[in-house]
Amino acid sequence: AKDGGRGRYHFYAPDLHSDAEERRQLEEELRDAVANGGLELYYQPVVQTATERITGFEALLRWHHPEQGFISPAKFIPIAEDTGLIATIGEWALRTACQDLAKWPTNVRVAVNVSPLQFANPSLPSIVTSALAHAQVDPQRLELEITESVFLNDDSDTEAMFRALKSVGVRLALDDFGTGYSSLGYLKKAPFDKIKIDQSFVRGATQPGSRNGAIIGSIVSLAEALGMETTAEGVETLDELDLIRVLGCSHVQGYIYERPLSAEAAASRLTSGLIA
Ligand code: C2E
Ligand code: CA
Ligand code: CA
Ligand code: CA
Repeated sequence: AKDGGRGRYHFYAPDLHSDAEERRQLEEELRDAVANGGLELYYQPVVQTATERITGFEALLRWHHPEQGFISPAKFIPIAEDTGLIATIGEWALRTACQDLAKWPTNVRVAVNVSPLQFANPSLPSIVTSALAHAQVDPQRLELEITESVFLNDDSDTEAMFRALKSVGVRLALDDFGTGYSSLGYLKKAPFDKIKIDQSFVRGATQPGSRNGAIIGSIVSLAEALGMETTAEGVETLDELDLIRVLGCSHVQGYIYERPLSAEAAASRLTSGLIA
């Protein structure tokens, strides 16, 4: 920056230390949150399009940082993955979601996000089995959300993991469909029960000239042909909801119905009956 007209320039070296320093501190605080109950699961309703019934909830991690307030999972999950903390966090999320699920009516499901790193861990099926057994819930009530990135190392381990999880009896959903390394090849191999259409397709789909609607429609046809359900993610407006209905998505998730809720609020949402 030019210094007050005296013709000299000061160059402020970017503080190379601060980013790494901040990150290291966040890591420390995350470790502390994991150890001391600083994480919480919130639950966002998943609504069946045809009936407007809540058929389940997606469990979403929340971290209430003592000073910084709410920190988004989009920010701390990558840190958890880099540090290996994701193993502990992921197992905690599975156990907690199953325990909350046990308190809800049996026609309601819960979906839990599974990091690719958890998916690469051969003990995942036994961790899932143990969480289900401990909470005494039917495996069919648990859905695991997995992203396309697990197919990056498309090897026999990936296929074996899918088979193992299927034999545990849980449902499998392909998350963020269309955003990553989309290849249709794996859809014929991997036994998904549901495809979750990423909110980037929903966003703007109602604008004139948008191609998103055509893409969503094609994904729905593909899913139906393969016997899979579809959830449209991030539906915010009535126009978007109308379009999603017309395009035939079987389920909807988004602020139009509900934001993620605490476990208590989710439970009372179920008893309060009709939605919206
Ligand atoms: P995701 O799995 O794609 O989750 C959906 C995200 O969309 C959530 O963000 C949700 O709050 C948000 N969302 C839902 N409806 C709307 C809407 O109508 N409009 C908009 N703009 N957003 C909506 P959230 O809770 O911040 O989570 C972000 C990401 O963090 C998740 O994306 C997921 O990738 C990751 N994540 C969250 N919880 C977990 C977890 O327990 N384990 C793992 N591995 N990842 C998690
Ligand atoms: Ca998800
Ligand atoms: Ca998603
Ligand atoms: Ca996402």
